[in-house]
Amino acid sequence: MDRIFNFSAGPANLPLAVLEQARDELLSWQGRGLSVMEDSHRGRHFVELAEQSERELRGLLAVPDEYAVLFMQGGATLQFATVPMTLAGEGQGVDYLITGHWGRKAAAEAARLRPMRVVADGDGLRYRSVPAREEWSLGENAAYLHYTANETLHGLEIDAPPELDYAPLVCDMSSTLLSRPIPVERFGLIYACAQKNIGPAGLTVVIMRPDLLERVPEDAPLALNYRKIAGAGSMLNTPATFSWYVASLVFRWVARQGGLAGMAERNRSKANDLYDCIDRSQFYANHVDPQWRSWMNVPFTLADPDLNARFLESSESEGLYGLKGHRAVGGMRASIYNAMPEEGVKALVGFMEEFERRA
Ligand SMILES: *Cc1c(COP(=O)(O)O)cnc(C)c1O
Repeated sequence: MDRIFNFSAGPANLPLAVLEQARDELLSWQGRGLSVMEDSHRGRHFVELAEQSERELRGLLAVPDEYAVLFMQGGATLQFATVPMTLAGEGQGVDYLITGHWGRKAAAEAARLRPMRVVADGDGLRYRSVPAREEWSLGENAAYLHYTANETLHGLEIDAPPELDYAPLVCDMSSTLLSRPIPVERFGLIYACAQKNIGPAGLTVVIMRPDLLERVPEDAPLALNYRKIAGAGSMLNTPATFSWYVASLVFRWVARQGGLAGMAERNRSKANDLYDCIDRSQFYANHVDPQWRSWMNVPFTLADPDLNARFLESSESEGLYGLKGHRAVGGMRASIYNAMPEEGVKALVGFMEEFERRA
């Protein structure tokens, strides 16, 4: 059957070449007569995959050697709790810059565990822009400053990490990791759930500086204990083996696309094509301050919201799937992660132009 173009925010589309390889190897992985799902995570073959994939991810992101790279579970949501629980001492303050839905969730979880301070909150700007730096109030003794690189729902992205030296930066990169090169050395900890740019749900990638590893208390619950997980090569308990395997195929696919520089070039061009279509029309609008527009998630509204249902119905019948915006923002949203081919964006732009003509 024909594949559709899937613009869902997550779980999101995967590269076709990766799915084909996973299909071809499903019943007999490495010609061994069993699926990777059925193989022991302690066996030689999976351990090799794990080590190799970590090396490849480090290579793609140019992770400094001393940093730990962990393959965890529990999604970004478990990181929302793990970060304050294990990186801040009891009673120690934690700082949160909130620029959208996910930052707010992360801050709310932290507030249940530690004294949480909001550095700035873009809600007054309807999360269409980032509060000006002069308006941030920074806590002096904070254990870290947390922010969300790409707000998946609001379509707002902070590309360059804020220039700060009073506390390590902790960043939720769930919907942007692997979409472009990033200066890993500027961060204390980066985390990302897999189901946007990395692979299937169930896997969470964590990259952390060794001094933050040292902060983890001895009695932290095992599944949250970054230090012990790092010490065990992310095999403290059974990892999400199949998700990890698919992620390893994605890493190779990204490398074949020219690595993160190649990925960035394609992502920029896809996003430009879509924003150009929106900006030159009187019918579609994207309200995010252009300097903060996301390359990954492009929310847009129709001039006449009564046409939303028809837009969704017709787009779906043309094989353009998952364009309904989140109810908090309304309208439409096109998620155009790494795996969305340029032809997918071109098909969407063509459809949007045709729909506007007929409206
Ligand atoms: C999807 C997403 C999350 C939530 O991830 P879960 O794995 O469902 O917990 C958190 N933050 C961002 C930026 C996301 O895009």
